[in-house]
Amino acid sequence: MTPETLAALDRAHLIHPVSSWRDQEEYGPRILQSGQGAWLTDIEGNKLLDGFAGLWCVNVGYGQQKVVQAATEQMARLPYATGYFGFASESAITLASRLAVVTPGDLNRVFFSQGGSDAVDSALRFIRFYQHARGTPEKRHVIGLARGYHGSTYTGAGLTALAAFHRDADVPLAWQHHISSPDPYRHPEGPDAAPIIAASVADLRNKVTELGGPEHVAAFFCEPVQGSGGVAIPPKGWLTAMRNTCRELDILFVTDEVITGFGRTGPLFACEHEGVVPDMMTVAKGLTSGYAPMGAVFMSEGMYSTIRDATPPGIAVGHGMTYSAHPVSAAIGLAVLDLYQNGLLDNGVTSGNHLATRLAAMKDHPLVGDARSIGMLGAIELVTDKAAKTKPTASLGISKKLARIGYEKGVLFRAFGDDIIGLAPPLCLTLEETDILCDRIEIVLNVLL
Ligand code: PLP
Repeated sequence: MTPETLAALDRAHLIHPVSSWRDQEEYGPRILQSGQGAWLTDIEGNKLLDGFAGLWCVNVGYGQQKVVQAATEQMARLPYATGYFGFASESAITLASRLAVVTPGDLNRVFFSQGGSDAVDSALRFIRFYQHARGTPEKRHVIGLARGYHGSTYTGAGLTALAAFHRDADVPLAWQHHISSPDPYRHPEGPDAAPIIAASVADLRNKVTELGGPEHVAAFFCEPVQGSGGVAIPPKGWLTAMRNTCRELDILFVTDEVITGFGRTGPLFACEHEGVVPDMMTVAKGLTSGYAPMGAVFMSEGMYSTIRDATPPGIAVGHGMTYSAHPVSAAIGLAVLDLYQNGLLDNGVTSGNHLATRLAAMKDHPLVGDARSIGMLGAIELVTDKAAKTKPTASLGISKKLARIGYEKGVLFRAFGDDIIGLAPPLCLTLEETDILCDRIEIVLNVLL
């Protein structure tokens, strides 16, 4: 089909996720045709450097033949096996056992979902089962962070604290609450670690008190680095302090590593920066690197055995989907894990260090209020007045301009509103490509001047 025909069919039929339906019909799609390494080619033959790894998911890069081979072999041998009724596939069992080795602490039990949203939704259901199992069903409130993103299911959108996901959606639900974000650039207490950490700990304690005390609160959820909220990187020590506070208050500490997992911030999981072991952890994206859908929820041995022991023999723990632990996704997960463990994580650290150096230099640009990164996850925050940290107004239309100019200059990134450029390139990015990425972003910034 010609690009024009495809565009017309897209406008007529395809509902795009999290997008303006009006804009979609007005501007039509950008159709991608192929990818290799960190590069994409669109239907017109334009070559684009993917500074966002698809949707922060193609961590291993495009065209990884070992992954393609693993998927093809699995698909030919056994394209589907249910996990219901005691069945399993070799790839799912192997992936579960290999992940148990690399996940923090005793997060040895894993439930596979189809992506991040249903991993979060599954976690919330398991938390409910757990509170019933331990005889504390009144512990039902769940607390997240302002600017947090936890997916698009009903419960995930409620735990999310971004306006676009709440509009006309009747969420957050009555048991979902939020405390302030630990974003150093815009924190009212300033950028220093100690006051930010103290403020978050106090906010959490106050919220728990407001909700009637720990006996009414089940869990606290956080992203170790807030992704869709604008890549807000909490100061070192924050994760540990929140973990410890949750332990003191007897509420579950759940980290949502859907973005930060699988090398995005350097180590395999972002919790490792501080040696923190959560009670539960959700992942997706880098788990299969976008080659097929899959997410996962990890839970501690203690949580798992509490639910198991409270459920009589023959009675199902009633949660699961047709595609839980899909064998093709699991085979892909195994091939992707091999790549991470055989050099890709190291490459991500090397290129991530270079990215940090280049971003630091961008702080001198007249439009840049802040430029920050951790590993291969970064953001450039645009301001019209550096001292006052004034966000560009929507009337400047920077968000739309950014995406368009970036595309014209051959670089893909994500524009969050009118003020933040998000970066999450594939971990296979070379040092030379890191320079190309940053050079092109600087060109885009200069066009905006
Ligand atoms: N949790 C976090 C932290 C995310 O960033 C996302 C997606 O970006 C999700 C959950 C939802 O994942 P998915 O889009 O795979 O459903």
